[in-house]
Amino acid sequence: MGIEFREEKHIKTFHNPLNNFTPESQEVLIRFDPLLDHFAVFNPALEDKVRLFFGKHDWTLVEKVAQATKEACFMCPPKVREITPRYPEDFIPEGRLVRGECTLFPNLFPISPRHAVIAVGEAHFRKLDEFSPELVADGLALGLDFLRLVTDEDPAMRFGCVCANFLPPAGASLVHPHFQVVANKEAFPLQHRLLEKSLAHYSRTGKNFWEELITEERARGERFLGQFGRVVFLASFAPLGSNEILGLIEGAGSLSEITREDILDLARGISAALKGYEEMGYGTFNFSLFLPPLGERTPWFTPHLRLITRQNFYENYRTDDYFLQRQLASELILTPPEKMAQMMHKFFKQEAS
Ligand SMILES: [Zn+2]
Repeated sequence: MGIEFREEKHIKTFHNPLNNFTPESQEVLIRFDPLLDHFAVFNPALEDKVRLFFGKHDWTLVEKVAQATKEACFMCPPKVREITPRYPEDFIPEGRLVRGECTLFPNLFPISPRHAVIAVGEAHFRKLDEFSPELVADGLALGLDFLRLVTDEDPAMRFGCVCANFLPPAGASLVHPHFQVVANKEAFPLQHRLLEKSLAHYSRTGKNFWEELITEERARGERFLGQFGRVVFLASFAPLGSNEILGLIEGAGSLSEITREDILDLARGISAALKGYEEMGYGTFNFSLFLPPLGERTPWFTPHLRLITRQNFYENYRTDDYFLQRQLASELILTPPEKMAQMMHKFFKQEAS
């Protein structure tokens, strides 16, 4: 029966005091994720009010913070390769991993048994349209190199993610662009749900859910953003975060099957999407790259990155996460994924040419 994109529309009335208490109808659309027990909600009346939720990103403020923090920044060269923590030689002989302008080193305050930080680029601060594919690829490649070393050293570390927070509203404590990589014996809760549901789908239907999703979305087209090499980019039907974009490495059944070319293709999509976000008026983001168990080959799971926007950075900004996200584990759709996809097309086409 394939992939189901289920949505429910609910219309209820109330008496509007702004209109003499005449009855007025309010519409809420609920979109169910085709794999997870998850739904996102959309109220068409809120679409024109995005600015009430997301103030204008204040790049002048970001630059001010950048100036004030540059001197003390340990991710700026040459400090990043001199004073940052080092791994023991029996794990990483050089202490840190380096690729191009990127440097990986231990997180001083880890949240998982192995937890590294990747300084992405030598520039202390950059705008969303300044993340080149080559730079992002070097950062991602370091994360995957690190996970390979982690699982070689201790095969019990079966689960890993390469993630990013950009700017304080997205959880970053430093403005210097950086990624993070975490490895653990247990899958993180969302990673666990994705793996569990993907395996259940495969056991039930004999098919890889993600490959079916790609086929279906390619045919429909309205959420299909583009493809570089074998990496496919889609707007999420029922996003787990604002403006969520998926980057799926089709055909890579394990960490060891992710090639240097795949990483560059994934980075090209991230770079294009960040430009699109900037044009949409957003200035911050998170991403996580979800991988199957590190030493295993999993025909039932496709490694994929999930990229989202977060609240903009301006004085007295309000957090974008409220009970809906933090406690009810749902998400609010302000821009419909299909409309976001339309805005993104230009940047994916540019990157393709
Ligand atoms: Zn810096």
